[in-house]
Amino acid sequence: MVLKSHGEIELMHAANGLVQQVLDRLDGLVRPGVTTGELDEVAEQMIREAGAVPAFLNYRGFPATLCTSINDVIVHGIPDATALEDGDIIGIDCGVLYKGYYGDAARTYAVGAISADARHLLDTTRRSLELAIEAVQPGGRLSDIGAAVQGHVEANGFSVVRDFVGHGIGAALHEDPQVPNFGAPGKGPRLKAGLVLAIEPMVNAGSPGVKLDPDGWTARTEDGSLSAHFEFSVAVTEDGPMVLGSEPAAQMAQGAG
Ligand code: MG
Ligand code: MG
Repeated sequence: MVLKSHGEIELMHAANGLVQQVLDRLDGLVRPGVTTGELDEVAEQMIREAGAVPAFLNYRGFPATLCTSINDVIVHGIPDATALEDGDIIGIDCGVLYKGYYGDAARTYAVGAISADARHLLDTTRRSLELAIEAVQPGGRLSDIGAAVQGHVEANGFSVVRDFVGHGIGAALHEDPQVPNFGAPGKGPRLKAGLVLAIEPMVNAGSPGVKLDPDGWTARTEDGSLSAHFEFSVAVTEDGPMVLGSEPAAQMAQGAG
């Protein structure tokens, strides 16, 4: 596990700030009729204009800037000419490389008016990420994070995907350790100040099973149920979690000098 200096965490805060700007911009564009390819073009242009590089484009051959995952797609959907429809949900995952460091975050958006069940899935997944972030405490254990996600998700009648996990992040997009969204608390390595983790619960409305499309990327729920995904890159500090790219993190960073 690579521990980052204050200066490195500042750079990662900037990289993640750009990711949040992209996700905010997309929030204003996601609507019935827009295509995932159009969203991808906007994101790539914003990232390049900021002097950064799309992190997912060409990563192990991935062909786009964003992962766009509609309805039963869990993660890694490929942007194309597919138009969003009223009532869809779409997970958008964005990564950038900026000044040598990676930012990585995701949100799931509602397209037009969505069902109460879909809204409950989105709210539960987002809340499970908040609870996971609260578990990021120096001296705590890695598995406290996954336990927080799993406990909240299963209490709401949904299931946590096992086949994909969060990860350390820094000068590489994926660093040790892996960060599962499940498991008993109090296990694994201790969380130390300077560790930066991309925490990303993937939650299925039905069973946790995954199936892969023939494109080799698009991962769907095995049972066809809806799936949601939220992600933040989070630094462990002496004072607790610092959500990179968010406004409160900017204040904390200034306070820390
Ligand atoms: Mg991501
Ligand atoms: Mg990630």
